[in-house]
Amino acid sequence: MASKTKIINLTRMSRIFQPLATSGSLDSVEKTEIASKGHKLMINYGIIKPVSIGMYALLPLGVRILNKLIELVDKEMANIGAEKILLPALTPAALWKKTDRLDSNKTELFTVTDRHKKMYILSPTYEETICDLVSSVGQLSTKSLPLKLYQISSKWRDEMKPRLGLLRSREFIMKDLYTFDTNLDNARHTYDLVCESYNKIFRQIGIKYTKSIGDVGAIGGLMSHEYHYISDIGEDTILQCPSCNFSINQSISETTSCPECKNELHQHIAAEVGHTFLLDTKYSQPLKAMYVEQNKLKPMVMGCFGLGLSRIITLAAEILSTNNEIRWPIKLAPYTVCIIPPKAGSKEEDTSVYVEQLSEILYKRDIDAILDDRTHHTIGKRLIFARALGYPYIIVIGKAATQSVPLFEIHEVDSSTYRELSLDQISDYFDNIDVKN
Ligand SMILES: [Zn+2]
Repeated sequence: MASKTKIINLTRMSRIFQPLATSGSLDSVEKTEIASKGHKLMINYGIIKPVSIGMYALLPLGVRILNKLIELVDKEMANIGAEKILLPALTPAALWKKTDRLDSNKTELFTVTDRHKKMYILSPTYEETICDLVSSVGQLSTKSLPLKLYQISSKWRDEMKPRLGLLRSREFIMKDLYTFDTNLDNARHTYDLVCESYNKIFRQIGIKYTKSIGDVGAIGGLMSHEYHYISDIGEDTILQCPSCNFSINQSISETTSCPECKNELHQHIAAEVGHTFLLDTKYSQPLKAMYVEQNKLKPMVMGCFGLGLSRIITLAAEILSTNNEIRWPIKLAPYTVCIIPPKAGSKEEDTSVYVEQLSEILYKRDIDAILDDRTHHTIGKRLIFARALGYPYIIVIGKAATQSVPLFEIHEVDSSTYRELSLDQISDYFDNIDVKN
């Protein structure tokens, strides 16, 4: 029975560290903070756990969601030739002095001092660090440009009022990409290329997003765009033209009508999930990130591009969930399929042998699944739980599995529909849905 190993590969729900919050424990920890149903559901169902003010532990299911998002982002970064690195969490404060950012940002910076009295910043962003790294390898030749380096890591901001969980936390997970080009024209080309890769990432996540002209703010530069999800828990207001693509952050808008087609702009509350900047030489000049052209040293023209991964996850839960049930984008769900075998001691108990064949069908298609092996509970109770967790597909091994041609219930959670299919039909069914990154 070689296929026995396939069942072992299936994660068993009884083995997952998934502490469910009771209403009592929520009240004490989160009373003032919970205004977001997605955030509340993520705590209630053991996806994340608050550990101190504005700081959260991602529990095993939360890490699976994050890893799926990282995989999706890594693939699109590879498609544009960006290389992944990992920079230290601490940046020497002296580097931020060179760009005059230390004093202007001081209230929101976490700082630490080492045994030699040297001050470091727990980095919220890495323009200085990356320029220092690139400059330390010596001048680059035009042949090695454009250079595109990114990382996915925790960033820190000492928020005055952390709120809404991972939407405005003091530690958050961000993908930050830094690009280096020879001149502004090339840098604009790179900028457009990265924006297109962001469009691809957001299209795969599948939640409607907007791209607006943004505020360059404390990062600076020549031009910036912001990616938003429309959501009442957001902190931005964007103005959008109802007939063309024009969209702008209200904070920098001087008009109430579209400059392209003169229509009145519509106002939306939105939450930022991505931000792109054409930096020019703001950081490369003071930190001497240079390249050589015709024996002349010139500062490289930079872009920087952020994606708020923990924000995307929180907002996805907020936007897609009902009041009682979490929903995930199919490609980010902690498991794509949940298999529910019959209750122990029931007439159908023998049909649990089909778990093996079902898991093999999924395994062959590289579709991840979890087995709700808590067979002391009824099928109905486990079905309610699987729906609440937002597993996109639930396979129930119930009464129809005892027939001469066994049938299984395939529940599509998003549409609240189900159908009874044979094993062959289930193979066809999973051949025809797009669930993988
Ligand atoms: Zn317009």
